[in-house]
Amino acid sequence: MTFNAIKRLAVDSGLPLHEAALVADMTESGNNPEETRAQLSEFLRVILEESEKQYGKAQDTLTGLTGTNAKKAHDRGVLYHSRFTHVAIVASLSICESNASMGRVVACPTAGASGVIPGIFYALSKENAFPFAHLLPGFILASAIGNVIAAKATLSGAAGGCQAEIGSAAAMGAGALAYLSGGDAETVDSAAALVLKSLLGLVCDPVGGFVEAPCVKRNAIAVTAAISAAELALSGVTSVIPFDETVDAMRRVGQTLPMELRETGLGGLAATRTAKQLVDRIQTRFQKP
Ligand code: SF4
Repeated sequence: MTFNAIKRLAVDSGLPLHEAALVADMTESGNNPEETRAQLSEFLRVILEESEKQYGKAQDTLTGLTGTNAKKAHDRGVLYHSRFTHVAIVASLSICESNASMGRVVACPTAGASGVIPGIFYALSKENAFPFAHLLPGFILASAIGNVIAAKATLSGAAGGCQAEIGSAAAMGAGALAYLSGGDAETVDSAAALVLKSLLGLVCDPVGGFVEAPCVKRNAIAVTAAISAAELALSGVTSVIPFDETVDAMRRVGQTLPMELRETGLGGLAATRTAKQLVDRIQTRFQKP
């Protein structure tokens, strides 16, 4: 599946972009559009429910490397960002720290990258008072963007680096935000491409192999990047390289990343002196009776 094919189908059929995405999915995978809509609706319901429940709370995570970031950001309040972006950052941290403490998350597209989409959808719900029915088309479109990346490249950090996980989440979030803000298909294309190309080459280097550092805070930074990309695209800034081709580039970059930078915990930040000291400390924590 390509994003161009979804855009073409929308033009030919006269369907809204997210409905064309459901039809394209049916044609390609045989999935019933109403069943897909119901499943995505349930995922979105869980995302909003967990975001509300965990928002700004401290959590006891597996390694202790994270768990207080959402609370700190929440308690400090807005500094430079808009209130919308602040809420998106806090929600993103909250969900990722919940994931690190074995809480319930929707892998969006993966558990490690599960904070970006909640950040955007929770902020739209809380700050812009978007009702659930208005959010769902954006979530369907976000899912279609993820499907395009899965079909053309990969969503796995082990296969393509963090660009494939958090980069993909940011592309899904930026495209959805642009769409829900009234952007047309080309605006959505640009929003998704702008943020994915900005995260191109991002390596997967979790300290000790645990999905906490840098994963949790990377989600929060990526949600701001996704919002920036949507805002640029909505102002008429276009991506020189279209989304489908950006995904192709991401696949090729991922294929050239060495094994040390693909979720092995052997390269990047994971190979620093501090990371090694932290891993020793985590092992001691696990050994405690
Ligand atoms: S650094 Fe690796 S494990 Fe962490 S979110 Fe990125 S891809 Fe996932």
